[in-house]
Amino acid sequence: MRILLVEDDAKLSQPMGVALREDGYVVDIVGSKSAALAAVDTVGYDLAVLDIGLPDGTGFDVVQHMRSRNSAIPVLILTARDGVEDKVHGLDLGADDYLVKPVALKELAARARALIRRGHCGSGPMLRAGGLDLDTVGRQAFHQGQPLPLTAREWGALEYLAARAGRIVAKEQLLQALCGWDNDVTVNAVEMIVHRLRAKVECCGVNIRTVRGLGYLLERDDRP
Ligand code: CA
Repeated sequence: MRILLVEDDAKLSQPMGVALREDGYVVDIVGSKSAALAAVDTVGYDLAVLDIGLPDGTGFDVVQHMRSRNSAIPVLILTARDGVEDKVHGLDLGADDYLVKPVALKELAARARALIRRGHCGSGPMLRAGGLDLDTVGRQAFHQGQPLPLTAREWGALEYLAARAGRIVAKEQLLQALCGWDNDVTVNAVEMIVHRLRAKVECCGVNIRTVRGLGYLLERDDRP
């Protein structure tokens, strides 16, 4: 899962980035409106965290831009303590939630989890794929109550595909979800990750199909 963090103060963005990465997210940090617009137009994010005051505009401009392009990516805005007007304005423009600065890192991580969850499955922290139960908070897959050993990237791929079960996910899209800008993972590496993941989850009734020329499809298990 990949998060865009827009904050021009590095003293604030740095610890927020660390906290979110520790939670297993891929995090891209930018410090201006123009960089934020370019990022949301090119990368498929699972969440955007937006500061309001930016050197070349505002976080409001970014929400407005996203919503005008029918982007449904969840948005969390960062507001000042006395920023009641900012909160109202942000929510009216289509932000989903807000946090008051200075941000408590644990709260940021919890809000991020909740928003991403709502964005993908509209429900609780557990995802189901075939015979696997995915605990998206503990980042662990279980088969018949037993934890299934997965590497961090295998887990990331499984969670991403399971949240989009029944839909085709392009390799490029999965690549973007698994690595940030400063990380040169290749499409070949993604293929290897999926190859190993597939071997591990096959026996748990999870079928990850390769759709030639298009990407991967985790088949939706509609059996009762
Ligand atoms: Ca600022």
